[in-house]
Amino acid sequence: MKFGGTSVGTPQRMKEVVKLISDADQKIVVLSAMSGTTNQLYEISDYLYKKNPVGANENINILEEKYYKHVDELYTTEEYKEKTRQFLKQEFDYIRSFTKGIFTMFEEKIIVGQGEILSTNMVTNYLLEQGYNAALLPALDFMRTDKNSEPDLEYIREKLKITLAEMPNKDIYITQGFICRNAYGEVDNLQRGGSDYSASLIGAAIEASEIQIWTDIDGMHNNDPRYVENTSPVQTLSFEEASELAYFGAKILHPTCVQPAKFAGIPVKLLNTMDPTAPGTVISNKTQRGSIKAVAAKDNITAINITSSRMLLAYGFLRKVFEIFETYKTSIDMVTTSEVGVSVSIDNTSNLSQILNELKKLGTVSVDVDMCIICVVGDLDWHNIGFESLATETMKDVPVRMISYGGSNHNISFLVAAADKKKALQSLSNHLFKNN
Ligand code: ADP
Ligand code: ASP
Ligand code: MG
Repeated sequence: MKFGGTSVGTPQRMKEVVKLISDADQKIVVLSAMSGTTNQLYEISDYLYKKNPVGANENINILEEKYYKHVDELYTTEEYKEKTRQFLKQEFDYIRSFTKGIFTMFEEKIIVGQGEILSTNMVTNYLLEQGYNAALLPALDFMRTDKNSEPDLEYIREKLKITLAEMPNKDIYITQGFICRNAYGEVDNLQRGGSDYSASLIGAAIEASEIQIWTDIDGMHNNDPRYVENTSPVQTLSFEEASELAYFGAKILHPTCVQPAKFAGIPVKLLNTMDPTAPGTVISNKTQRGSIKAVAAKDNITAINITSSRMLLAYGFLRKVFEIFETYKTSIDMVTTSEVGVSVSIDNTSNLSQILNELKKLGTVSVDVDMCIICVVGDLDWHNIGFESLATETMKDVPVRMISYGGSNHNISFLVAAADKKKALQSLSNHLFKNN
């Protein structure tokens, strides 16, 4: 069971979480930092990068104050209040110690992971105070990435087994999401929003019967509720559909979180801490035939077009184009081709100028920035007639730069200007999900 930032955002919410985790089933509970904390820790790091320890200390003090205020609200006994105050003092002194020495990305990784250390210790203390048979599993003991920065599932499985054996027969194990060690043993993390990924890796490692992602909304909605009105929860998704939606911007799930669950064949449930009896979304290996499920949007996309008459009737042209992106470790999201040109979209522009320099050796190059990919997900097998025309018809008032269909059975994607994102999403909702 994984609980996100809002779900542990106040002492009251932490108590609600404890109600949800204290049934008879033995479980591992993955917690994020209290909402806002990770952002504040990045802010503190930013001051330290800018060599402003005074600014950093001011922010550390503000955050520390906030945490001390939670103590009286969360605990009833003086013993646990004192124990937690001691812990907080030690934690914030530790964070403060980074304002004195040199500051690099190694120190930053340690600082930004402290939010999860704080929340998990606070909840574990609360459980112990309330008499639950609970223990804290330090994620840094077992969560690890390999030399390619990919989670090392074999290592995680073995180490987690050892860590669990050291504290046997607990009903509830609490652990930190987000944080891990890299292949060299240094503190690292699974990227922003990575607690979902932690939960799915742990679920796969222990062959859990189910992975539950508890958040502040009643499951995956059929469109982004931050931009579109009248969205509604989708009851079932296949692993592939959920992966596409997460990758293409449905913030409720970390982009890679579905993978470990899919490989292990473990269903993932998306549930709402604020409304625990709502059915939420079940993600499994079942595909519901013949329906469009949901829409998502991925921001900060750049489109690159390469036109060359050398492509006409030639072979090997696309390989040369793709090799340039490979050299600069830049992944491509969408591709469309014509007889004399190819357009691709990327989201990582850190090597854009070098890529463009190389591409110019192959043809005429043009770039469109501030674009966004609108991804329509469902059972879009090519034998199902009408779905692609339905989606395309919906975009009739929006200028579309690229369309991609047929790459998988699950999606059709449109590349549009970021300025048209909201209009495109709303229009898709109005036409595709009007009966919901
Ligand atoms: P947590 O802190 O629990 O990990 P997140 O903020 O990361 O929660 O994810 C939940 C949020 O994702 C929701 O509050 C919602 O605003 C946003 N969201 C974006 N797209 C979707 C979608 N398609 N369905 C549900 N929520 C979505
Ligand atoms: N606390 C981390 C973040 O804010 C990880 C997470 O919430 O999933 O990105
Ligand atoms: Mg999240």
